[in-house]
Amino acid sequence: MSELNYGEDTSDHLFRQSITTLPRISDKRKKLFAKLGVETVGDLIWLMPRMYNDWSRRVPIGHLVEGDVAAFEAVIENVPSLARRGRLTYIRARLGDDTGSIRAVWFNQPWLSDRLKRGERYIFRGKIEGKGRTRSVNTPEIRTLNDESPAFMPVYPLTAGLNQATVRQAISAAFAKRGLVITESLPAKIRTDYRLATADYALRKIHAPESEHDINVARRRLAFEELFLLIAGLRYMKSGRSDERGPAMELTRPVLERLKNQIASLPYTLTSSQKEAIKSILGDFRQPHPANRLIQGDVGSGKTVVAAMAMAVAAWSGYQSVMMAPTTILASQHAESIAAILEGSELKIALLTGGVTASRKRLLTDALAEGEIDILIGTHAVIEEGVRFKNLGCCVTDEQHRFGVRQRIRLSGDGDIIPHTLVMSATPIPRTLALILYGDLDITEMKDMPSGRQAVKTYTAASRDRSRIDRLIERELNRGHQVFVVCPMIEESPELDISSAEAVYDRLSRLIFPDRRIALMHGKLKTKEKADVMRDFDRGDIDILVSTTVIEVGIDQPNATLLIVENAERFGLSQLHQLRGRVGRSEIQSYCVLVSDSDDPLVRRRLTALCKNSSGFAIAEEDLLLRGPGDVFGVHQHGLPDFRVANLYEDGALLKEASHAVEQIFRDDPHLTNPENRVVLTEFTTRYDDRLVRPGL
Ligand code: ADP
Ligand code: MG
Repeated sequence: MSELNYGEDTSDHLFRQSITTLPRISDKRKKLFAKLGVETVGDLIWLMPRMYNDWSRRVPIGHLVEGDVAAFEAVIENVPSLARRGRLTYIRARLGDDTGSIRAVWFNQPWLSDRLKRGERYIFRGKIEGKGRTRSVNTPEIRTLNDESPAFMPVYPLTAGLNQATVRQAISAAFAKRGLVITESLPAKIRTDYRLATADYALRKIHAPESEHDINVARRRLAFEELFLLIAGLRYMKSGRSDERGPAMELTRPVLERLKNQIASLPYTLTSSQKEAIKSILGDFRQPHPANRLIQGDVGSGKTVVAAMAMAVAAWSGYQSVMMAPTTILASQHAESIAAILEGSELKIALLTGGVTASRKRLLTDALAEGEIDILIGTHAVIEEGVRFKNLGCCVTDEQHRFGVRQRIRLSGDGDIIPHTLVMSATPIPRTLALILYGDLDITEMKDMPSGRQAVKTYTAASRDRSRIDRLIERELNRGHQVFVVCPMIEESPELDISSAEAVYDRLSRLIFPDRRIALMHGKLKTKEKADVMRDFDRGDIDILVSTTVIEVGIDQPNATLLIVENAERFGLSQLHQLRGRVGRSEIQSYCVLVSDSDDPLVRRRLTALCKNSSGFAIAEEDLLLRGPGDVFGVHQHGLPDFRVANLYEDGALLKEASHAVEQIFRDDPHLTNPENRVVLTEFTTRYDDRLVRPGL
């Protein structure tokens, strides 16, 4: 390692020291800091301010605007009076300058009455409330004119028991540590070409800026660094795959013939997107190096059959496959659909979830190691712990788990062979962003939907429409269809006016439809109980399923034609779209009713957007407009690490620059052998250590 590190080793060592090596960090404080994700001195240095309190700009009182948090210089115009009401004390004063005056009130700071004197001049900072003559500022902070505190006070994320002063002081102590050197992680050439500050400068200034310019320079450098390291690391992983050995499948004529027959036996014809996807996967399988492909398709586009055919081809070519699902319910659902899709193939398909007994698990794992099982379907947790394959050729996973899974699966037999990986995703994201987020993957987009699908008719409704909603439920049930009712919470909560799943279940099962089969499902049920409910729903033994969002992903019951979402305002647009994907999974017309009493214009727009659009891509874009960047596509969803500084949406321009910089580096030094470039990889791996694959350093 050391020869790769052209920075100071000592600093690295100090960075990794516990924060308890700093003055005034007790064990109790250590625990509080841990809640902020801060354990080492390095974490502290990388704890980024959420914002800054700006004391530098002084606003004339006449220009203070309601709602702003502002600093202003003023004279105390009257004798501040201390008053009491019960346990509450407050001090009132009038503050003025040449342009006007404003009332100030300080609550529960009685000592200020000795300090604040008529005619004295201070700088005040606080939130401006009210307009005109009633304008006031509530409990403003106070500085004297010769106060030497910084003009920009960093504001850090906190947790109960930690205050700003403690965090600020700990950060200064970290920087004051003897021998602390901040390692440079960007090659000098990139720094000059893109006019970036050094890491040392940026990290010091981000905590103690003297001007807005300082903040911008520091932020730019740190955000660039995050984006650059990630893109470069992903890029390196992708190029590294050409050196790895994958299962090069021959795909003989008989194998392709079997595939054709299997597809012909389906009760439907594949969409062109599905055919294209299968074709690119076959191309991957033939390659001598492990493929890593993202299959991106909206809910209902039919990704399962693509995965099933891929795994069948692997099996017929002599390789085992594994498919991992995020939940037990989903795993069993997948196992059932895949068994149905591959009916007649005589392939051995097994399900492994947390629910299986130890002895059954033994049997399964033995059979796997012997190569007696062709396709294993299960949850990540179960599969990752000690399952061995005889000859694993293909691994299907979801986007949250695209990193690391391949590495953690123990490959027995020929341990040098790394399986092909397919990542399934139903989160539509703009193409440019996909190229970066999925820089390590090849991308297939499935744009067509199965034919005969009708868009789900979507309506909004309010509580006063309750009886009409009940009639709609009744109508669908009379047609022999099934209904979902989704609620944001399980139990009633006294503070919130929200329909809980329990309350809705009670009302429907006792009052409205006492003769129907109604079930309640939520995350607190035991795995087995959830699986039972899902099985009954699948079999058509349940008419109405009242549930929390546990049904959000993957549930596939073509006979479900009505989805009611209670308190729809509590869900994001993309989430509602995912939920809606639970109906409309056949040729029967389906309906979705979004119940909300909210009159918040943003909520109304969101719900209307959903009524008007059926494509996930259109909805994702609308969501971006309405909610603003950041919230929409959680970084976690894509299995990427959180950024500390960079924001994938706001930093669009910087993202492009970082992307160019990566191109530049790889053009000049494709294997990153130059020590200055190599540090990019060391940084990448140390930062994303347990989340990401270690490139072959
Ligand atoms: P998703 O992409 O959301 O995972 P699924 O694979 O669960 O979608 O497929 C949704 C539904 O569409 C399933 O009921 C499946 O049987 C059906 N389906 C898949 N492909 C086709 C097709 N080409 N024609 C008709 N129905 C299809
Ligand atoms: Mg699916």
